[in-house]
Amino acid sequence: MERRFENLLPDVIQAEKERAPVIYVPVGSLEWHGWHMATGNDAIKVHEICLEAAETTGGLVLPALFFGTGGGHYDYPTSIMVSEAALRPLLQEVLQRLADLGYRVIVCITGHYPGEQVDLVKSAAASVSAPAGTTVLALAEHEAYTLERRADHAGKWETSILAALRPDLVDMQQFTKHADDPLRGVYFTEPREATETLGRETVDGIVATLAKWVADALEKAHTVRGGGSRNG
Ligand SMILES: [Zn+2]
Repeated sequence: MERRFENLLPDVIQAEKERAPVIYVPVGSLEWHGWHMATGNDAIKVHEICLEAAETTGGLVLPALFFGTGGGHYDYPTSIMVSEAALRPLLQEVLQRLADLGYRVIVCITGHYPGEQVDLVKSAAASVSAPAGTTVLALAEHEAYTLERRADHAGKWETSILAALRPDLVDMQQFTKHADDPLRGVYFTEPREATETLGRETVDGIVATLAKWVADALEKAHTVRGGGSRNG
């Protein structure tokens, strides 16, 4: 079914909330990601990951937030970053609204993961006031890949993930085109080692972990509801 919240009619949104009170809040950035990757990578990849997870867990996915903070890429000509002060109230209000609407499992996941943004996402989630049994999960996307740290900036992992999810948004020819400075703004790993296979494996690992965490959180919500406690 269509799980993109913005595309749905109210009856569908309400029915899905009854069936699975789970909602995903993907957060990213508009940030230079080398010559070879779409600038919106962080938000685009994590939105796709949320859609795949929701196919397993049920629930809906909010539109990705493309404005992010931190990471030191502010000077690149295609980066449009915002301050933490601008982002924090927006995120807090959205998460609080979702709790007030009765979502019992709220998953806020960031595909842009410098410390500033990860800290913000986690503290915004911790600020939500919700009934007992509600879980607000907040994490960087790579935290849900538990076998090893598959995180970088426009390197092997991000390039593989986007190539698996949106091959139309990766252009490996750019390394040849910009042969004098092929890795401008790329950090930590070598993007020319990226493959769709590695990306698919990574996405599957992330989705499986998210699905397990959401199932556990839903179980907790049911247990609390069954016990009659509504106080939070
Ligand atoms: Zn990124």
